[in-house]
Amino acid sequence: MKGAPLAERVREQVRADVAELGSIGLATVLVGDDPASHVYVGKKHETATADGLRSIDCRLPADTTQDALLELLDELNRDDGVDGILVQLPLPGQIDTDTVLRAVDPIKDVDGFHPFNAGRLYAGHPTFVPATPLGIMALLEEHQVPLEGAGAVVVGRSTIVGKPIAHLLLGANATVTICHSRTRELAAVTRAADVLVVAIGHPNLVTAGMVKEGAAVVDVGITRTETGLTGDVAPEIAERAGFLTPVPGGVGPMTIAMLLANTIRAARYRRKVLAYP
Ligand code: NAP
Repeated sequence: MKGAPLAERVREQVRADVAELGSIGLATVLVGDDPASHVYVGKKHETATADGLRSIDCRLPADTTQDALLELLDELNRDDGVDGILVQLPLPGQIDTDTVLRAVDPIKDVDGFHPFNAGRLYAGHPTFVPATPLGIMALLEEHQVPLEGAGAVVVGRSTIVGKPIAHLLLGANATVTICHSRTRELAAVTRAADVLVVAIGHPNLVTAGMVKEGAAVVDVGITRTETGLTGDVAPEIAERAGFLTPVPGGVGPMTIAMLLANTIRAARYRRKVLAYP
């Protein structure tokens, strides 16, 4: 399940939507010098700009206070030219992440991390859903992976990937099990999965013996190793799985495309073309 071809189609739609809706602003907020965060934010800007969005790049020094960050978010919330706001995580230690995520106006929360949007998803009314899980669902749909009544196992319970993808799979009527670092007999649980989503951040942790023959496997993990970017799922699984997302080139490209799609959604909400919430 390669991500690039589908991501390109999503982005084509984004370009068409920009042409229809007019100027759409996406603000990214990056605090500090984390090199990976700089790469991610740079990529988001490059892609947003290439697709015709107005990209507003807010970068603050590592010693920024929480109050200064909240002040910036307040300005962005009130700025009518800004449709979507994204705060790149992780934030430096002096800043409380939950407080900051709660300070983003939910109607501009294109990452879907505000408790209002998380709550909407958990209540079965997805509004803004985090981009990575949205991209995973789009890939599964594209490859017509049956979800209704399927056994789905999600390994990882982060608020960015594990929990929201579990809710989306549940919404699609899969029978969902969530695993984490304390799960006993992980292999026995994953071996029962028709659909297996792995979001851990440990290279090659899931090996062939842990996967059911013919299962659809989504590898969300990205770890930089000596041999390049490595997923959580060992490559030999390709021989056993019915479907598998490559790393790199699977979930990654979909994540950025869905972020842009969420920004279009924010623009529609804010222009009242789409009922909110
Ligand atoms: P995270 O917040 O660190 O969460 C990792 C999860 O994995 C935790 O729930 C943890 O369990 C669980 N875990 C750790 N070791 C485990 C083990 N041995 N067995 C079972 N579960 C284990 O990570 P995240 O933000 O969800 O990201 C996960 C990976 O996906 C990372 O590699 C990240 O870079 C990648 N990612 C990729 C994209 C993309 O666009 N492709 C987007 C987001 C993230 P506990 O809760 O018990 O600690």
